[in-house]
Amino acid sequence: MKKNRANKEKELLNFSFDFELLEACPLCGSDVLIPNGKVEWLDMDFWYAVCGKCGLKFMNPRPTQKSYQDFYKNLFWEQKVANVGFHMPGQMWNTKRYKWDNEKAWSKKEGTKTVIEKHREMRVKIISDTLSGFITLDARTDILEVGAGFGVTLEELRKKYKSKVYAIEPSLEAQRAIKKVGTALIGSYAEDLGGLRNKKQKFDAIIFSHSLENTVYPLQIIKWAKQCLKKNGIIYVQCSNLLTFDQMNPYHPYIFSAHSLGLLAKKAGMKPLRAGERLHRMLTVVFKK
Ligand SMILES: [Zn+2]
Repeated sequence: MKKNRANKEKELLNFSFDFELLEACPLCGSDVLIPNGKVEWLDMDFWYAVCGKCGLKFMNPRPTQKSYQDFYKNLFWEQKVANVGFHMPGQMWNTKRYKWDNEKAWSKKEGTKTVIEKHREMRVKIISDTLSGFITLDARTDILEVGAGFGVTLEELRKKYKSKVYAIEPSLEAQRAIKKVGTALIGSYAEDLGGLRNKKQKFDAIIFSHSLENTVYPLQIIKWAKQCLKKNGIIYVQCSNLLTFDQMNPYHPYIFSAHSLGLLAKKAGMKPLRAGERLHRMLTVVFKK
C-alpha cells in the first residue's frame, strides 16, 4: 500500500514545463522589466518580473500555454487532493492559517472532500453577494464559470437561485465531478471562449475565481469573455492580491494588483469595479461593459 502511494506520488511529481521568455510586458508592452522574486519546484525555477511602467507582476520566463494546458488537464487537482502540490508559506500579509491548511497527508477521497468544503465556505458567499449587486439571480440567469474546479460554486448557485449554470474546466478529474451533478460542461480551457463567443448562448455573468491568473493570455481571454456576455452581463474576477498576498507559485504566471487588473479590464474595453474587502488577501473586481 505504502509503495503504491510512493509510486503514485512520483508519477504526480514527474512533470516539467516548457518555458518561453517575454521581452516586453504582456499588458502594456513596456520593456522595462525588473526582476522580482522566484520560487523553485520540482527542479524548476519560476522567476518573476515587475513591469516598470504598469506594475504588472508576471512570471518570466513563463511556461508555454501548451505546458499549462497539459498540467491543468492531468495533474493540478490530482496533486492538490493528494497534498503534493506546490506550497510555500510566508507570502501572505498577516498570515493566517485556515483549518484546511493542515499538513497531514490527504487521501484522494479525503483531499477532494476538503477542497470541496473549502471552496463552499470560502468562495460561494463572496461570489453570490457580489453578483447579486449587479445582476438578478433567478431561474432566467445564465452563469458560466471558467475554471470551475469540482463545480461547487455553480452547484450552489443553481440550488439557491435555480439559475442555469455552465462550466469550463480543464481537469479530467474535476470534469467528472461537474458532469456527475448535471452541470453543463461547455469547454475545457479558458481559450475555448474564443469559439464560444460566436455562439448564440450568452451569459449574465462569467466567473473567474482563481483562474484568470492561471491563464497565459489573460487579456485575450477577457476580450473573448466580454463577447460572450448578454447586454448587461458582467465578469467576476477573484485572484490573489499582490499587495497582501504575493502568491508566487508555479500555477500563477500573473499576480495582479487592483491597478494592473483594472488596466487589463480597461484594455478589454470594460470598467473595473472593486468588490470585497480592500485589506483582504484576495483581490475581487467586477468588470462591467
Ligand atoms: Zn506593463
